[in-house]
Parts: sequence; structure tokens; C-alpha cells
Amino acid sequence: MKTAEVKRRYLSHFEANGHTVVPSAPLPAIDDPNLLFVNAGMVQFVPYFLGQQTPPYRRAVSVQKCIRTPDIDEVGKTSRHGTFFQMNGNFSFGDYFKDGAISLAWDLVTKPVAEGGFGLDPERIWPTVYLDDDEAEAIWRKIGVPAERIVRRGKADNFWSMGIPGPCGPCSEIYYDRGPAYGAEGGPAVDEDRYLEFWNLVFMQFERGPGTDKENFPILGDLPAQNIDTGMGLERMASILQGVDNLYEIDEVRPILDRAAELTGKRYGAHSGHAASESHPDDVRLRVVADHVRTALMLIGDGVTPANEGRGYVLRRIMRRAIRAVRLLGWQDRALPELLPVARDCMSPSYPELATEFERISSYAYAEEDAFLSTLRAGTTILDTAIAQTRSSGGARLSGAKAFQLHDTYGFPIDLTLEIAAEQGLQVDQDGFRRLMADQRARAKADAQARKTGHVDLSAYRTVLDAGGPVQFTGYTEVSRESS
Ligand code: ATP
Ligand code: MG
Ligand code: MG
Ligand code: MG
Repeated sequence: MKTAEVKRRYLSHFEANGHTVVPSAPLPAIDDPNLLFVNAGMVQFVPYFLGQQTPPYRRAVSVQKCIRTPDIDEVGKTSRHGTFFQMNGNFSFGDYFKDGAISLAWDLVTKPVAEGGFGLDPERIWPTVYLDDDEAEAIWRKIGVPAERIVRRGKADNFWSMGIPGPCGPCSEIYYDRGPAYGAEGGPAVDEDRYLEFWNLVFMQFERGPGTDKENFPILGDLPAQNIDTGMGLERMASILQGVDNLYEIDEVRPILDRAAELTGKRYGAHSGHAASESHPDDVRLRVVADHVRTALMLIGDGVTPANEGRGYVLRRIMRRAIRAVRLLGWQDRALPELLPVARDCMSPSYPELATEFERISSYAYAEEDAFLSTLRAGTTILDTAIAQTRSSGGARLSGAKAFQLHDTYGFPIDLTLEIAAEQGLQVDQDGFRRLMADQRARAKADAQARKTGHVDLSAYRTVLDAGGPVQFTGYTEVSRESS
């Protein structure tokens, strides 16, 4: 089943059950200083859940575009984490509660494909419930799931809150057993690769008090209304229904991966097993490329442009990771003109604006790639010289200062320095590099603090003055010939 069809079935199942279809909010989160990007379907409904606004409907359904940057290091290594992904979600604002949410989910997941459902084998489904949530367990039992496949888990996994005072409550996650080829038997607590989490049902029923401890915060009491917030990973469900090993192999992503493999001359999957832990490093890189190119497309499509801070910096980092991965796979030229149009063709059936705005999107993307490639070229020349110097002086280790200079002045990533040095049989003084990075961070923090308090730390100027005496600025009339 195509991803677009999974999405369509989700929407029509809930629409048929009285839910209003609400379009996705744009990726850049608005009105929230704590959130750069929308990371869940519920984000656009927060004012309803908090009781600050009255919703125009009591049931809603959406497919929300999401970005989760904290998941970026998992991409390609697990079978289930994208930087960009789409979250199907159904919501009840003081309408149905646990019973309704669980029955509606179960119906859709187990209804035969011929009747509009997803047709999953009920015996492969493992729900989890919060430690003391006997009510949710009883509902799962009533529906027909045997006790041995219902797992109780603690706060970290099965209790949802926004991390601040407000609504919170236990949740029930739904996992699919992909079978022994993917890992050890025993349920979601044993192997999260074999048992794939695809849906989270959140029962918002309590009010959370203040406190920063994730595991231990006060519950002030019951909410005036009981709400439901659910999130099903569209790509995860598509990967199950398409019988592929991971979400980079579904119809909306795989063509990008294939084009990257073709470009770099790699044969994807040639050396890997089914489980994510059995992946060859080249396969991981191909998945990273596919994920990040798609993510960049969606971000620029929603108006984000590369920059040195904020949302634009996240985009820049994602694009650079993609370009680096392509180079490590062996392709040194521009890659985005080959990959971005493939991503557009994958995604524009669901998001037609990507096709109509492709000229704008691609001009940002290609310019960014060109700039990064020249950074890489400049840095590589300097690195090669430094390596030659280190060698000729009989050293086996590139200084931390050089690695830091490359990073700081040329924007040259440390992992690339490490890799190129290693190819030449040299080590890098990583401790020294890290010390300089830490110094720089401390300086940046002090600067930020100074901006906030209005007090600038002038001691650096004092040091210069003490060392060299007063100087006269001659830069208006003279140009220094000294090179840096
Ligand atoms: P995981 O434990 O696998 O990281 P999660 O518990 O963090 O997932 P939730 O916050 O419960 O995820 O989000 C709801 C649903 O969204 C998940 O059940 C999953 O199907 C999907 N999802 C979450 N993160 C991602 C991601 N990075 N890529 C793709 N789908 C995701
Ligand atoms: Mg997660
Ligand atoms: Mg989880
Ligand atoms: Mg979850």
C-alpha cells in the first residue's frame, strides 16, 4: 500500500467517525519560543487542550508534517527515525476518551485491507499501558488482546506531558511484531527494532504542576475535560504495509536513496541484514542522504532558508550532513541537482506546492551546496598543507589548534578532518580540539550573558592594552599587507 493511500485511509476512517479533517500546520512552529519546528500533530491544537480557546469541533483528524532534530543521530541507524516525517493523528476535545480512542485505533489497524483498513494480524500487536492504568489494560483485554501481550511501562515511556505545567496523562503505545528476522523475542521492552512502535494514544486527564524532573513531577488533579491526542507515524505504518525493513525504503523515500546509490556507484543492501543493527555503513549513509534531502526539500518548501542561527541553521546542518554523506560515498560533485528533483517527485503528489515552487526551493538548495563545496575545497587545501607539515616535522598527530582553526574559520567539520587525517595515517589531537571548542562556547555564553545584562566584559581589551600600550587606528588611510 502506497504511503499516500495509508494517509487517505487514516483520514477517511476518522472522518467517517465524526472527525473534522484539519490541514497540517506549516513546519516552522509559531507562537512558541520553546519550539523551532512542529514535532507532533497536537502542536496546533495546544490552545484547545489548555482550554485557552474553544475548538470549533470536538473531534479532529490531521496528517501533520513534523521535524524532530533530536532524532537526527538515529537516522539511518534505526529502522524508524526520520528527521522529517508525517504524523497521522486523531483528537478528541472533551469528547470520547480511552475506550473510544482504543476501539477506533484497533478497528482501523485490524480491519481487512479490502474493507478500507490496514489488515494487520491481531496476534502481532503489542499494546503498552502506563504502570497503574488498569482501565486501559481492561479495554485492551475486552477488545481481545491477551494479557501476555499487554506490557506495562513507567513514566519515561508511557506518561505524556509537555514538560511544563499543563495537561498530561498516561498513554498507550501500539507496537507491531516484525518477527524473528528483526531481533529477540519478548515484547517492546526487549527489542524496539523487532517490535516497532507505530502509534501512541495519549489520554490527557490530569493537570501537571511545576518541576523539571521528567520522572517525578506533581499532579495537581483532574482536568475539567478529558482529551485524546494520538500520533501514528505515517512512514512507520507504510513500512509495515509495504513489507520493507525501514522507513527509508518506502515509496516516498526509496527513489531518493536509489538515485544516491546510482550516483555514487554503491549497491544498497548488498551487505546488510534485515535488522537495523546489521547495516553496512554505506547503507546507513545512503539512508541519511535520502532522509536529509527530503527534509531539506520540506523545510525550504515551508519557507525556511539556510542561515547561521535558528531554524535556518538547522536546515544548513541537515544539508551539510547530506552533502558530506554523499562525498563519503565517493561522489565529489554537486549532488543536489541530481537528488532534489527526485525528492520533489516523491512528495509533490501529496504536497503540490513543492512542484509549483520548485524553482525557488531548488535555487536556495543549490546555492547552499555550492557554498559548502567551496568551503570543503578551501578547507581541504589547508588541511593537506597541515598534514604535510606535521609529517615533515616527524609528528604523527595533527594539532588541536589546526583542527579548531579549520572548524572555526573555514566551517570545516571535525569528522571530516578526522577522516582525512586518518587516511594519511595521522591522528588528531581531539582533546585539544575539544578544549578550544569549550573555550569558545564559554566565550559565546559570556557574550550572550553580557548582551542580556547590558554589561560587557572588557577585560580582554584591558589585557591588550596592558601588553601593547595604546594604539592608534590607521585603517581608514592604510591597508595592512600582513596576511592572516
Ligand atoms: P520512538 O520511541 O520510536 O522514538 P516516540 O515514542 O518518540 O518514538 P511519539 O512521541 O510517541 O514517538 O510520537 C508518536 C508517533 O510518531 C510514534 O509512535 C511514531 O510512529 C512516530 N514517530 C515519532 N518519531 C518519529 C521519527 N523520528 N520518524 C518517524 N516517525 C516517528
Ligand atoms: Mg522518539
Ligand atoms: Mg517511544
Ligand atoms: Mg511514543
